[in-house]
Amino acid sequence: MSYLVAANWKMNKTVGDTLEYLDLFLPSVKDLMKIEIMIAPSFTALSSASIRLDAAKKEGEYNVKLGAQNMYYMEKGAFTGEISPLMLAELEVDYVILGHSERRHIFGERDDLINKKVVSAVEHGIRPILCVGETIEEREQGKTLSVVERQIRNGLAGVEKDMVYIDIAYEPVWAIGTGVNATPQQAQEVHRFIRSLINEISKGNDQKTRILYGGSVNEKNARDLTKEPNIDGFLVGTASLDPEKFYKIITEVMEV
Ligand code: PEP
Repeated sequence: MSYLVAANWKMNKTVGDTLEYLDLFLPSVKDLMKIEIMIAPSFTALSSASIRLDAAKKEGEYNVKLGAQNMYYMEKGAFTGEISPLMLAELEVDYVILGHSERRHIFGERDDLINKKVVSAVEHGIRPILCVGETIEEREQGKTLSVVERQIRNGLAGVEKDMVYIDIAYEPVWAIGTGVNATPQQAQEVHRFIRSLINEISKGNDQKTRILYGGSVNEKNARDLTKEPNIDGFLVGTASLDPEKFYKIITEVMEV
């Protein structure tokens, strides 16, 4: 399975900004098929980004996928403000980020809701990236592995057999948007634990699921993190907003 470098733009960039970014970024990754790249723009920019990516793929070889930053689990109904899997599938969205720490901690999303979204995404052929990670308090209390275990067991309930269609992102909350990344050793310890947990809940599928790291990844720390055996890619926030920095991270990954 190829390495995945994914951009989470959060609540940044208008449609115009998105197209400007893609115009700059796409030529740099043409024919770069070894690494899978994913970009998750805002919901309002998904349609334009999808059309732009389609057009690029008609002109050349691109391993660039489209992601959404969230999704509700129902197909339709009275859920004001929500986006359904059918709406994402119509735009040929490949990935959906679920359980991001900002969804959990700012918007109060809990494991059971996140699990319904993961199940729904798999059912609709949209690849979920299930985000897990501990707060600084939980780390200081020695609870990192138990928190991650709970989030993974609950998040994956009912889709244990589908691990080949699911990626996990370990994103320690204290490292997101803070400029303080987990050290390669800290990340590796948790990634190794996640790998063994997946092997337990979905025998033999632990090598089929990518375990991404996220939390202040940039062009300076990407190479050392990539060297760790259980880190299969990155989910990048801040540094992905700049097409040159994001491309630099991709080149650092390719060097390893
Ligand atoms: C993220 O939002 O998933 C993230 C990892 O952000 P940042 O890279 O800014 O820490």
